Amino acid sequence: MDEPLAIINSFAFCGAHGCEYCHECYTDHRLTNNHQIMDQLCAAFPALTEDHFLDRQPISYVFDKAVARSSGKEPEYECKEHHTLDCSTCLDWAALVVEDMKRQAQSKSTKVIAVGITRKEKLQYLYSMGVNLPLTTRLPDDAIEKKFRSAIDASQTFATLIAKLPFDPSTLPLWSQKTSKATLLKTVSRGNFEEAFANIRARREGKEITWPLFENTFMDARQTIMGLADGIDKGVKTALIQDKDIKYAICLRIVEVRMLNEETPVMVVLCHRETRDAPALETIRWAQEISLLKVTATPEEQKLLLAVLNMNARRLPPAYSVKRNSSGSEATFALSFLLPLGPINQKDIGKLTHHTGCVVCGKKTVSKCSRCLSMEYCGVGKPLVQIKEHKPTCNSLRGGEWVQFTFSVQPPEMRLAAARGEKISMVTWNNMSRATRDNMKIDHCDDEPALPPNMHSQNPFLIKMQRGLFGVYAPDHDIRPHKEH
Ligand SMILES: [Zn+2]
Ligand SMILES: [Zn+2]
Ligand SMILES: [Zn+2]
Ligand SMILES: [Zn+2]
Repeated sequence: MDEPLAIINSFAFCGAHGCEYCHECYTDHRLTNNHQIMDQLCAAFPALTEDHFLDRQPISYVFDKAVARSSGKEPEYECKEHHTLDCSTCLDWAALVVEDMKRQAQSKSTKVIAVGITRKEKLQYLYSMGVNLPLTTRLPDDAIEKKFRSAIDASQTFATLIAKLPFDPSTLPLWSQKTSKATLLKTVSRGNFEEAFANIRARREGKEITWPLFENTFMDARQTIMGLADGIDKGVKTALIQDKDIKYAICLRIVEVRMLNEETPVMVVLCHRETRDAPALETIRWAQEISLLKVTATPEEQKLLLAVLNMNARRLPPAYSVKRNSSGSEATFALSFLLPLGPINQKDIGKLTHHTGCVVCGKKTVSKCSRCLSMEYCGVGKPLVQIKEHKPTCNSLRGGEWVQFTFSVQPPEMRLAAARGEKISMVTWNNMSRATRDNMKIDHCDDEPALPPNMHSQNPFLIKMQRGLFGVYAPDHDIRPHKEH
């Protein structure tokens, strides 16, 4: 029987799944595909021979990137992003294979899991974490990468928790179900006021879940970590994290749980990434050996989790090791650790959204537009006022009138509860960790006026924010958690 074939930009893939190597279609197109890009492969890896390229990581699930356009007998494929036939940017196989082989080689030497995250994906992750940068930002790639890493660390409150690197978890006390006061699930839970109030609102409206899955990647990743902790509470230490189409999977075993402090567990993990089209025999064996916690996670969430795992893996001492299973199926698993992930506090969000670079080139800014005083730029070339693209914004921002508006950051739930004379235990609701508790203060405003109407329609406008000194809790007026009985 003839297997259907998809030829996309001269590479062959199985027609059913869009994979170069397919474990379900019994096909492997790498040999023929390699010949299409042999010059580029040899140039990139002069020390390797043709045979080496045969068992490179195959390209999987191209239909995520390319769609068929059926005009003649044979379908032609265009990229989803630009709708370009055999797009030389999106479907540049030589570049993709070379990049992936380099990543694989590097991941082996640094003991992390190879995963490619694009600039656009990083911006989307940042957005899901509350760091909203425009997708069109001109910031250079390394600045985006830095913000992405800083955001992950802000969520882990890494700098507050771990002062010195490398970080050796074996020096910390072990967590034990018998001696700990709270469940591990409770201990890894993090939140802030906004989330706590969303929870209350949802409960009052009779909703079952406040945070529906697969809407916010970061929230999903946080819930997966909570799911892993819940597994430990129930005695399950291994998890298979897969998307609903089972294209990608993370195999993960929690080797042990250590305590950084009373509220912060460190889950030491062995982990591995797998794709369904080319599963390794050891992974199949691994999954058969044990009882697994099955977690559904989108491919995007899996990549975010891998980014966190890779960042943390590099922080372990080179000689650090743990006991792997006796069958050897975990021999190639990467070693890392997970900390609780929480919402990023407003201070860090502010820092992460602050330097967005020159509006023209993305470089470091030294000045602002002299006319509207609102757009930052690098100062190179002609003044910003004279740049065509900036003129409409500039005109719109200039010559406006200031409308004064006092508002409160106190959520309505708080006010209503206070009016009813209810005592509110903020910290117990939130499971605030020590690391972020210090950042929390509440403003008071008794009468909240309605928001002024939008008189700007689609035009940009400026909002100046001033935080009142009056009515803010003084530092010694701390909000203490009520002890739970
Ligand atoms: Zn297939
Ligand atoms: Zn394209
Ligand atoms: Zn510039
Ligand atoms: Zn301007």
